[in-house]
Amino acid sequence: MNYDNQNIFAKILRGEIPCDKVYEDEYALAFKDIDPKAPVHILIIPTGRYVSIDDFGKRASVEEVAGFFAAVAKIVNEQGLNKNGFRSIANTGVDGGQEVPHFHLHILGGGPVGPMVSKAG
Ligand code: AMP
Repeated sequence: MNYDNQNIFAKILRGEIPCDKVYEDEYALAFKDIDPKAPVHILIIPTGRYVSIDDFGKRASVEEVAGFFAAVAKIVNEQGLNKNGFRSIANTGVDGGQEVPHFHLHILGGGPVGPMVSKAG
């Protein structure tokens, strides 16, 4: 899948639309999900153009991958989520229910977030 420059997170990265920012560095931008599914619901995205976690793992440089996950660690610590824990989710593709085609990690916490997924039918 080719990267779509017009996806909403690309527009947020370019500053064309606003976000409720919680963290930014060279490798990652984090902001509050507009439709939170937990008391704390943050999206962390790489600053580079990657469609999914799969695309990120294949094409990102070692520096970008390290920088991204170092930012994840900083953010969950800053948000106090390391104490009681949190859930991270990267929805991918059609079966994963991915809506925005720019890799993003959902960070959900601030209280118990419930069962991981419904049981397989
Ligand atoms: P996914 O289904 O994994 O692609 O998740 C996309 C997420 O982006 C959803 O949880 C949306 O609520 C969230 N979202 C969509 N537009 C915005 C926006 N402008 N600012 C913050 N979150 C957004």
